[in-house]
Amino acid sequence: MTATHDAAALGIETPRTLFIDGAFEAAASGATFETVDPSTENVLAQAARGDATDVDRAVAAAKRATRGPWRDITPAERGRMIFRLADVILAHKEEIARIETLDVGKPLKESRGDVEGVVATLRYNAGAADKLEGATIPLGRSVIDFTLLESAGVTAHIVPWNYPLGMLARSVGPALAAGCTTVIKPAEQSPLSAMLFARCCVEAGIPPGVVNVVTGFGEEAGAALVAHPDVRGITFTGSVETGRLVYAGAARGLKPAVLELGGKNPVIILPDADLDRAVVDILDGAFGNSGQVCSSSSRLILHRSIHDEFLDRLAEAASRLTVGAGLDDCDLGPVVSAEQYGRVTGYIAEGGRNGARLRHGGGRPKHLGRGYFIEPTIIDRVDPSHVVSREEIFGPVAVALSFDTMAEATALANGLGYGLVAGVYTADIGTALTLARDIEAGSVWINGWFIGGQQAPTGGIKDSGIGRERGLPGIMNYLQIKNVGIRL
Ligand code: ADP
Repeated sequence: MTATHDAAALGIETPRTLFIDGAFEAAASGATFETVDPSTENVLAQAARGDATDVDRAVAAAKRATRGPWRDITPAERGRMIFRLADVILAHKEEIARIETLDVGKPLKESRGDVEGVVATLRYNAGAADKLEGATIPLGRSVIDFTLLESAGVTAHIVPWNYPLGMLARSVGPALAAGCTTVIKPAEQSPLSAMLFARCCVEAGIPPGVVNVVTGFGEEAGAALVAHPDVRGITFTGSVETGRLVYAGAARGLKPAVLELGGKNPVIILPDADLDRAVVDILDGAFGNSGQVCSSSSRLILHRSIHDEFLDRLAEAASRLTVGAGLDDCDLGPVVSAEQYGRVTGYIAEGGRNGARLRHGGGRPKHLGRGYFIEPTIIDRVDPSHVVSREEIFGPVAVALSFDTMAEATALANGLGYGLVAGVYTADIGTALTLARDIEAGSVWINGWFIGGQQAPTGGIKDSGIGRERGLPGIMNYLQIKNVGIRL
């Protein structure tokens, strides 16, 4: 059965508004842009196209809110408000999940899981709101010295399209817990769920101006937000190229920036690994969310002795994955946009032109004539120096390389500019920990993939980013340390 994809039939009220100072209003220019359902290629809704004028209004509202009731409530009350926001979002889980699925194509079960993750993230940060403590500094008997943790003020949250609401909550949750106010810029491919988040903020009683949403284009609304002098912190998740632009803009304003960028994440699988487990994990790690995940298991570094067996098993498991519209709740939905479809299929073709072997998939599933669908794809016999082995594809494509010695495996793992996450599969704890020590990445996962949660810090080194999100370090991004010294 094919689910209906008509926005009106699904009760999607097309937003056409920004959310500024607690009110839903059109962009000052009146301009809008289309968002497309990637499983049908049809226009799903219109969103307001905010620009620098709207960013000014949103930042002004956020600045006023730093001096309003948000400042005067206790941290415990602030925490209770964020808990309430989590409850409201949970109450709207089904509606939010359906809209996210329509907007970006991901299977409904994944969207539901994303909403649950948002709730967990908000609750974690809500619980921390009244536990953010400074320190006393021992300077001797004649001085008392202590630190105050103060909110950073107005913060900008530039969000990608792969987990629109999940990435929004990952940075807005801790910012709110720290007492900051926020201006959110969703990605142009996925503007809808942020508006639902705004509605939930109203329903939860978050004071006006604490959360603002400016939908629009990166070069317009995003760049204006980065440049705005009253924005005192930036959190960006997206591509390396855009991350460099954002960081350059932050540098001009001397603003701290947390950047979570791409990855081409190595998974080293040794001969003694539990291959059954590795197949299950890598199937999800490489093809979940159609591979549009910064921490996807996209670069398989396989010991030569198990290379063929592992890929046979992975291909067999991949052949059982279903591909279809998100609302039909298959295993893989489409990729997000025509542009992304072109990028991913371009990489697959490039691999073919350079002698790599298409071990599985590689094209559009035969039963799907329209929509940005790509089969789960496995590429092997590819040179490690080839673009397909080196660049982030951000689609359902796993690339396999082989190695003989540990030194070779480590060199391959560390051979790229990226350093987001890495995985090791082995039964030998010494080998696992040696590799965990030697691999250049922000996270190393042993005998598992996507290990973590809202409590565990995540982030990249090298080209994969700056700073850490989630966990208590994630809240520190939104706090300033003020030192107070008293001579007795
Ligand atoms: P992709 O290339 O996968 O679409 P981007 O990294 O360009 O991803 O986008 C991530 C987010 O950054 C989106 O919200 C996008 O609108 C925003 N963005 C894009 N360009 C800029 C820019 N120059 N300044 C600020 N934000 C931007």
